[in-house]
Amino acid sequence: MSDFGVTVRDAYIAKQRIQSNVRRTPLIHSLWLTQTADTSVFLKAENLQQTRSFKIRGAINKLTSLTEEERERGVIVVSSGNHGRAVAYVAKQLGMKAVICLSERAPRNKVESIKYLTAEVVVHGECYNEAEQYSHYLEKKRGLTYITSDDPFIIAGHATIGIELLEDLPEIDAVLVPVSAGGLIGGIGQVLKSVDPKVRMIGVSMKREPVMYRSLKAGKIVQNVEEKETLADALAGGIDPNNKYTFRMCQKYIDEFILVSEEEIAEAMAFALEKHHLVVEGAGAVGIAALMSRKVGKLRGNVAIVVTGGNVDLPLLLEITKERCKEKDIV
Ligand SMILES: *Cc1c(COP(=O)(O)O)cnc(C)c1O
Repeated sequence: MSDFGVTVRDAYIAKQRIQSNVRRTPLIHSLWLTQTADTSVFLKAENLQQTRSFKIRGAINKLTSLTEEERERGVIVVSSGNHGRAVAYVAKQLGMKAVICLSERAPRNKVESIKYLTAEVVVHGECYNEAEQYSHYLEKKRGLTYITSDDPFIIAGHATIGIELLEDLPEIDAVLVPVSAGGLIGGIGQVLKSVDPKVRMIGVSMKREPVMYRSLKAGKIVQNVEEKETLADALAGGIDPNNKYTFRMCQKYIDEFILVSEEEIAEAMAFALEKHHLVVEGAGAVGIAALMSRKVGKLRGNVAIVVTGGNVDLPLLLEITKERCKEKDIV
């Protein structure tokens, strides 16, 4: 039993339900990060996932579990981009209507990719919280089914990453996971900690407004954290005050929390492209950034970094990489 409404069994059920529609992403050994950390480091490449982020795992698990009546009404979500893209993709496959609410801050490449999936895109407000308020207004006005990421089906879908990590690396000792609202690290933590409570869960966010980090410090969900411009745009946005699951899961499972700067994120994005030929967005690179900046306490054994997404504006990535690779040896 779990006091969170999500069990390891739920993760296995989710795995069965979603596996024909998600990619089994590779776990890639990193020679360079292994040298930096002086212990074995692997990248779980969810940037190569369908819709280019892990969010599709939760989205399929949730949307396929809706009742007939909920499906017919159509779904609405608020998103900084990736959750919206995943829900739009799955809704299209299932022949459902989807409304995706984004703030004016959402990166253009993310907005365009959602429109491409023929979902209805509503851009409203200057920050995530404003878009969120508006999405609740539309939910009621149009009778749509609201899909929040603080949901047992979504969390169980994300938890399937924990199962894959165990299958590929049974002797895993630590995992670094990017954190926004905490469903991803909560789900992975649920799986790994129930197998072995000693597996170290390391959360990573950007300095430019880590809402979960602040909330954990305060012992309660902190509202009104100002949203700031960041390369890790997928980690921006507040936590719903009615949060039921993810905050408590983070309280229980996160052993260590690291914050990274914009420059550290940029370095990590350039590193992933140059050394691993992986296209990684800012949010997806924060785990690599934490390790490269040597902010993580001494690691030992087998370490996995969840590289969560690859929805990055390519000209921006190339610019970041060019600036940082000039003087370096190409190995
Ligand atoms: C959503 C997202 C995260 C954070 O997931 P949470 O479950 O909200 O903590 C991390 N990286 C990327 C690329 C994301 O899209």
